[in-house]
Amino acid sequence: MVPGVVHNISLIINKSSDISHPNPTKGKFRSAYLQMSSAAIPKFQTAAWIDTPGPNTKPYLRYDIPIPTPSNGEVLVKLDCTGVCHSDVHAILGETKRMAVHIGGHEGVGKVISLGPLVPSSFLNTRVGVKWLYSSCLSCEVCAVNYIHCPNQSNSGRNVPGTFQQYVVAPAKFVTQIPDELESSKAAPLLCAGLTVFGAIKKAGLKPGEWMVIMGAGGGLGHLGVQIARKMALRVIAVGSGEKKRTLCTKLGAELFLDYRVDDVERVVKDLTNGYGAHAVICATGNDAAYAQALQLVRIMGTVVCVGLSQSTLTVSPLQVAIRGLKIVGSTVGTEEDMDELLRMAVAGDVVPEVEVFELERLHDVVQRIADGTIVGKAVMNLSF
Ligand SMILES: [Zn+2]
Ligand SMILES: [Zn+2]
Repeated sequence: MVPGVVHNISLIINKSSDISHPNPTKGKFRSAYLQMSSAAIPKFQTAAWIDTPGPNTKPYLRYDIPIPTPSNGEVLVKLDCTGVCHSDVHAILGETKRMAVHIGGHEGVGKVISLGPLVPSSFLNTRVGVKWLYSSCLSCEVCAVNYIHCPNQSNSGRNVPGTFQQYVVAPAKFVTQIPDELESSKAAPLLCAGLTVFGAIKKAGLKPGEWMVIMGAGGGLGHLGVQIARKMALRVIAVGSGEKKRTLCTKLGAELFLDYRVDDVERVVKDLTNGYGAHAVICATGNDAAYAQALQLVRIMGTVVCVGLSQSTLTVSPLQVAIRGLKIVGSTVGTEEDMDELLRMAVAGDVVPEVEVFELERLHDVVQRIADGTIVGKAVMNLSF
């Protein structure tokens, strides 16, 4: 016990609790600090390494990556698995020019095996998720409103090493406790894809019985969005392509699946909605044509939620936005409260991620398949070896 250190912990708690502390387990910070022995932890680990992001980049395995030591407030997590997000694919292929580290990934699930100073012992051996939002400053004016938009934030796989590796350190305040009932491979896709689409659906603010179109419905975000929207008693029209995605979306409760390659999506959506269009359109794909179509599918006073990442420009005239009273909003990840609510939905069986598990050495194939849109549901990389 170090009195000075304990005093600092209480300062952190008091300061953070004023601005909606992101971690519901914050009470655990009141426990004594304990530095665990790391004698049993090896020195090196395996990671999927990306030399330089770009269209021809091929991630490859490296076996000489040092296992980091957790600093103040951090935990060391031995990962079971990690999801692969479409934004990882954009980053690896150099499309978003945001990747400043060599190890991507931000949907990791694993066990806490070592604690840095200031972390309570109750964290040890718990199973946690490491997410895109690695940390926020919790002290700026944006954080005072909503820390997920903090301009000083760090992100796993963007500016701190991500989860395409066996071991990762992360701030204890920002990891998510994973319920015992959930398998790691089913929890991983909820940490970004699930949380993001959950936040987006909430931002649409619809009432039960209203129409929601989900573009990119059979993909990583979309197939979770269909389930979440159905749980909220929304009427879901899924838009995607291919028979596998049609089968999945219909099974998950979409009232209708429209294949944008063959169906007249706009006509069918208008026919179904008395000619008005949907109350909200969630664009869960970064496809530019989907964004253009989303603006045609939404009704007067409706909401388009931008979720799928695209670098190009959304083309809509201010005249259209004004005359039709449209709302165009953005959404990225969600709060820790959203995360817990979503995990509870998963435990209850209301949201079940469809996953395909791959060995880490296949990351390159997985990246290509996600880019091609041929993964149904979510790809998860196994890290427990
Ligand atoms: Zn993501
Ligand atoms: Zn901040």
